[in-house]
Amino acid sequence: MSIGVNWAGSHTFAAKVLHEPETVDELRRIVAKAPKIHALGSRHCFNDIADSDELVSLARLPQELTIDRANNTVTVAAALTYGELGVALEAEGLAIHNMASLPHISVAGAVATATHGSGDRCGNLSTAVAGMELVTSSGDIVRLTRGDDDFAGAVVHLGALGVVTRLTLDVEPSYRMAQQVFRDLSWDAFDAHFDEITSAGYSVSFFADYGPTIAELWIKDRVDDEHPFQLREHYLEALAADIDLHPVPRLDAANCTVQRGEAGCWADRLPHFRVDSIPASGNEIQTEFMIRRELAVPAVQALREIAPHFIDHIWTAEIRTAAADDLWMSTAYGHDIVCLHFSWMFDPPAIERFLPIVQATLTPFEPRPHWGKVNTLPAAEVNARYPKHADFVALANRLDPRGAFRNAYLERTVFGA
Ligand SMILES: Cc1cc2nc3c(=O)[nH]c(=O)nc-3n(C[C@H](O)[C@H](O)[C@H](O)COP(=O)(O)OP(=O)(O)OC[C@H]3O[C@@H](n4cnc5c(N)ncnc54)[C@H](O)[C@@H]3O)c2cc1C
Repeated sequence: MSIGVNWAGSHTFAAKVLHEPETVDELRRIVAKAPKIHALGSRHCFNDIADSDELVSLARLPQELTIDRANNTVTVAAALTYGELGVALEAEGLAIHNMASLPHISVAGAVATATHGSGDRCGNLSTAVAGMELVTSSGDIVRLTRGDDDFAGAVVHLGALGVVTRLTLDVEPSYRMAQQVFRDLSWDAFDAHFDEITSAGYSVSFFADYGPTIAELWIKDRVDDEHPFQLREHYLEALAADIDLHPVPRLDAANCTVQRGEAGCWADRLPHFRVDSIPASGNEIQTEFMIRRELAVPAVQALREIAPHFIDHIWTAEIRTAAADDLWMSTAYGHDIVCLHFSWMFDPPAIERFLPIVQATLTPFEPRPHWGKVNTLPAAEVNARYPKHADFVALANRLDPRGAFRNAYLERTVFGA
């Protein structure tokens, strides 16, 4: 049986079996019996992180969602998407702190890879996790709560520890947001005012193909009656767009969330892409590197110098920020980060040619690559940038002593070095 491909079509799953249990007990039996198995989320990773001999999808488990108002949390079934979560929380007057560029991804899949949005004071999506329940390779259920010894090591787990069945997330009262997009910010302005620009809203993104200017600057802010959105005619010298824009300026903005300062629900403004549309270009492969925030300007200057190598192959690049956290395998472990993302046109041989040049350019900045996107950095080099790497390997060996969740990706990256 063919399991098919990932969202991008860039990886054909090697797995021959896809289990779709309807109960946790069924899941426990499947996992305990399988020599090699991995959980599959919504297939949005660009590499083989979610592959194995056997896969298990939790899409058929009951899609429960339980709100705990006393503790300001919601407990959700692992396969729930952020789009579904947003609708359910908004109906209860609640919200989460941030979302990725798209709401289509599963909560468990996003948390597993330290998926992030943008915002100087926003931790990535994994930082909202207050508790988790997983089925380990023995078929046993392990429950972890923030503060437990293994918790900080287990949240960003890359699928290496078990199959997560439930996640408990921090929630807060629902809030409204608005966003505005500005065109053609100069690189000089980026260099001179980076900190000022990234703090101009709750969540700020730069989109550029590394051509002459930053094509778009997206500023998203929380609003309420006392603090209406600050609609600007320009930001620095970048002019406000008078139509809605797609992050790739030549693509149709119909797929994007509402712009031009119109306030709406947090879940309809934090992502760039609408839940009912194709996110991004739909024909791409993504790469992303996180570096220390304070290195943003020199790193981006270095990328501008090598842009001729890739400029004909890029839909757009996005530059975002995220706050430091203490989750061992999080790309923001220990320090604030700037996230240097690239949406490459779908042309694997071309990417193979210029990706090493991009990586060599960023190596002095000690990048941590996104776990769910494409890179070819040496594993030892990457693992050395995670102070808790050895502890994570020990945790994985303890929770999964028979290595049932170790797949080719994990052997190559986390365990192989
Ligand atoms: C168009 C597009 C836009 C994107 N935008 C962003 C962005 O804005 N920010 C960002 O950081 N990333 C972004 N990504 C990357 C994406 O968010 C991550 O790759 C994310 O991990 C995908 O989640 P998924 O549910 O599709 O998981 P999958 O790709 O299916 O799996 C990812 C990992 O999670 C594990 N996993 C999934 N479910 C479980 C479970 N129940 N138990 C244990 N492990 C599990 C899998 O085993 C695997 O290791 C984007 C991707 C696409 C395609």
